[in-house]
This record gives sequence, C-alpha cells and structure tokens, in this order.
Amino acid sequence: MDYPWTCAGCGGTHQGLIDLACGKPEHWPGAEDKAPNSALDPNGNFLSEDFCVLNGQHFFVRAMLELPIRGSDGRHFGFGVWSTLSRQNFVRYVETFDSGAQDGLGPWYGWFSNRLKGYPDTLSLKCEVHPVSGRQRPHVLLEPTDHPLAIDQKNGITFDRLLELYAINGHDMKTSLSD
Ligand SMILES: [Zn+2]
Repeated sequence: MDYPWTCAGCGGTHQGLIDLACGKPEHWPGAEDKAPNSALDPNGNFLSEDFCVLNGQHFFVRAMLELPIRGSDGRHFGFGVWSTLSRQNFVRYVETFDSGAQDGLGPWYGWFSNRLKGYPDTLSLKCEVHPVSGRQRPHVLLEPTDHPLAIDQKNGITFDRLLELYAINGHDMKTSLSD
C-alpha cells in the first residue's frame, strides 16, 4: 500500500494511500490564495493553510476527518476539511497554535464546512473539533447520525469505496493496481 504509483486521473505520482484536502471552507467566496498565518486578521477576511475568517464574524480551522479503512490493521484515510469554531475557541486555538501543545483544549463544537463529493450534502453537519498536540491538524468527529459520512467515520470504509472516493476526486489508483 505504501509504494509510489502513477495516477491515471491527475497524471501525478502518489505515494501509497493519499489524503484528499479541501483548500478552503465552502463559505469562502474567493480564490484559494493563502496568506501566512502571521498575517491573521480576526476582524476581516482571511485565508491561510490553517485559519479562515469571514467578515470578522465566521471563524474556521483546517482539520482532519479520518475514515478507518476496514480490514487494514487500523489505517485511516484522511480528508483535510474545515470546521467552524466560535470566536472564543478560535482565538484560543490561534493563541496556542505555535506552541504545539493543544491536546488539553476542546473538544469544541463546530459545523462541518465543506461539501465532500461522493456523499449527500455534508455542509453544516454538526461535529466536534479535537485539538491535537505536536502541530498536527485537529481531528473532526462527526455527530453520530445516520448521515452516510457519519456512518463511514464510525464503521469505516472498504478499500473499494476508497478507490471510488479517489476516482470521484480525480485520482485513479485502480488502473495502477491492475497493471
Ligand atoms: Zn492523482
């Protein structure tokens, strides 16, 4: 699973099981031009690799949604996604971000802030944001509902479903496997 493979979808070379990522929250209207974190303006409009602010009123953090891969000895597929935070929790997150010591924070409530292809609308699903130490992205845990994405996070996905999610997002691992 960890070898490099040539992707018939995007034409790139990938290493093993790749993560997918959303560059911005669904609500961000502009391009994905990223500012440095140090330029954060909590009262305006801002987008970096880790933080997003809309109109000084809506606050988002980049997080990681993990879906267990069934029958894989505990491996996960990672989806880089965004969640809202309250202003207060956002400020605490930003203040402690550079310290790398964040696992005592949270969990915080948030609203899932992306539409993931291959699922019924995932925007605004209720979730918990769990900060993680060591400068890793916080983990998003979806509220346990009967939404297919919440079910997949709880029960895991099959390898075939993972290949399907890759294909929906423009990556073709299947062809490389049959070579
Ligand atoms: Zn690809």
